[in-house]
Amino acid sequence: MSEGQRRYERKQEGYGSQRRPEQKRFAKVTKKVVLRIQCSQCGYKRHILGIRLKKIELIEVVR
Ligand SMILES: [Zn+2]
Repeated sequence: MSEGQRRYERKQEGYGSQRRPEQKRFAKVTKKVVLRIQCSQCGYKRHILGIRLKKIELIEVVR
């Protein structure tokens, strides 16, 4: 059991209800991710910082 859980249970002891509000649901459904994109020809790397997404698709761009 983690320290936070132990602390919570110590605080909760002998108390009929919740001492702290229960976390029921989170507002966000996705985590922020960093996309690391690298060019296969020259090895150029690019980071796309902190975007939220559920799904990513890579498509080939022919020039
Ligand atoms: Zn390149």
